[in-house]
Amino acid sequence: MLVDRFDRRITNLRISVTSRCNLNCFYCHREGYDASNELTPDEIAEIAKAFRELGVEKLKITGGEPLVRQDIVEIVEKLPEFKEISMTTNGIRLSEIAHDLKKAGLDRVNVSLDTLDGRKYSYATRGGRIERVISGIEAAVDAELTPIKLNMVLIDGFNLDEIDRMVEFAKQFEGNVIVQFIELVNLNYNGEGHFDVYTLVHKFEKGAKEVRIRGMQKRKQFIFDKYAVEFVKPVDNSEFCMACNRIRVTADGKVKPCLMRNDNLVDIRGLKGENLKRAIMKALNLREPYYRG
Ligand code: SAM
Repeated sequence: MLVDRFDRRITNLRISVTSRCNLNCFYCHREGYDASNELTPDEIAEIAKAFRELGVEKLKITGGEPLVRQDIVEIVEKLPEFKEISMTTNGIRLSEIAHDLKKAGLDRVNVSLDTLDGRKYSYATRGGRIERVISGIEAAVDAELTPIKLNMVLIDGFNLDEIDRMVEFAKQFEGNVIVQFIELVNLNYNGEGHFDVYTLVHKFEKGAKEVRIRGMQKRKQFIFDKYAVEFVKPVDNSEFCMACNRIRVTADGKVKPCLMRNDNLVDIRGLKGENLKRAIMKALNLREPYYRG
């Protein structure tokens, strides 16, 4: 079992398979890191296996945009078994590949969608076509890559007026879609566009059939008949950090103990077996909450 110095058990691994992306969102934090020399499918499998043997239960594949890798199906195929393997994607290539990903062992996807307005989408992503994302979501439902989480980063002055519309959009998928409202993280913080997602909680808590506080980062989830909503509030939230059960690996093979920092990475590329596990434990010891109470 992986437990850090702050008694936080690490159950979730997030592996970035590329820093490249086919979009260029104006607010993107690039998961905090740019890598040039990408891990191969075998290297990714070896790293995932070591974390699995150390007790990690869930794996998320991320980027950049994971679907720009031509070998993404092979990457998924080679992974060891986890309780859940998911992927976060912008959905642009999803309709072409959803069924192959499911066959390869992917359980579900998160799809990033901040607006339902085609013109705004194209502006925010610098050229993305929203029709492709929508057909990607439909294909993912068809392939049973569910529940799908729609990641909507809430940005003041950009999409706060689309919250109800996004919820209506989710409803049509009859319980297969969870809308995840994400607070904007601004790594070079100047406060612009920031909106506290918790101010929305009262809007949803009344009619909810069930309210869950998830183990992961104490995220709040509200369940309704045909959809669910969840809140991700990472900014200035010591509760979020104290309940953080996630560790990251960069696209070039470095363990990244915290999204918000790049000064404590541990290179694990090329390591195998016990040496690999020892290096992972070293990274674990560097984990500390970014925001503290
Ligand atoms: N390309 C993939 C995608 O679009 O999901 C994976 C990488 S993307 C960086 C992962 C998630 O981080 C997306 O849902 C994106 O909206 C979110 N994200 C990016 N920049 C962010 C920021 N500054 N604050 C909060 N979330 C952000």
